Amino acid sequence: MNRYRADLHVHTVLSPCGDLEMSPSNIVKRAALKGIDILGVTDHNSTKHGALIRKLAEKEGIFVLCGAEVTTREEIHCLAFFENDDTLEKFQQYLDTYLADVWNNPSRFGYQVVVDENDMIVEEVNRLLIAAIDQSIDEVEEEVHALGGLFIPAHIDRPSHSLISQLGFMPPGLKVDALEVTGRTTPEDMVSQFPELAPYSFIGSSDAHFPEQLGTRMTVFEMETRSFAEIKKALHREDGRRVSVLTDRSRA
Ligand SMILES: [Zn+2]
Ligand SMILES: [Zn+2]
Repeated sequence: MNRYRADLHVHTVLSPCGDLEMSPSNIVKRAALKGIDILGVTDHNSTKHGALIRKLAEKEGIFVLCGAEVTTREEIHCLAFFENDDTLEKFQQYLDTYLADVWNNPSRFGYQVVVDENDMIVEEVNRLLIAAIDQSIDEVEEEVHALGGLFIPAHIDRPSHSLISQLGFMPPGLKVDALEVTGRTTPEDMVSQFPELAPYSFIGSSDAHFPEQLGTRMTVFEMETRSFAEIKKALHREDGRRVSVLTDRSRA
């Protein structure tokens, strides 16, 4: 079994809160320097930088999971990842359908731009990407799974925009592929507070908005090779595969 270091929660310059230095080419360069083997691209309610980052990352030997960080109607942030361009595009159409018609004010929230591999702007997105989409967490989960994707509630230990902050518990029928924690707590702390979380794998990620944050928190995947199917198996602890949260401290 091989060990791979994954940072599955990274914002680009397309997220209004993402630093202007977070262009696809800069992110890939920095990820390579940090020894990231698997990179998750998760802009707020948009998938539009995924394909370019995957193309640039291939040259560096980095495997990319393309997806988004969705804000549900309950203001819960959830990571969603898709296996191929077709399902990623279908999910983009779903986001376009349900994202609130609220316009971005760049001077207040930041710019939302799609750039090319030379950091030239090719599109400015007008609708505010940090607004919620008009779908419940159950509806988002169903859509992600109908498209064969992975569904991971983000930073569940955060005091805002998290499953626990908004609902206070894990809804019994919700099918998650894993749960993400920040450095505030450990998976063990979360399970002792919420025993219903015991069956799930936990990931840790940087939630990087600035280049220097990339890879500051990661997840180790123990699996045969880097593929969508193997990542899914590792999250579900199948056939000896597994994941564990890696922090700066545990790496020392
Ligand atoms: Zn978030
Ligand atoms: Zn985020």
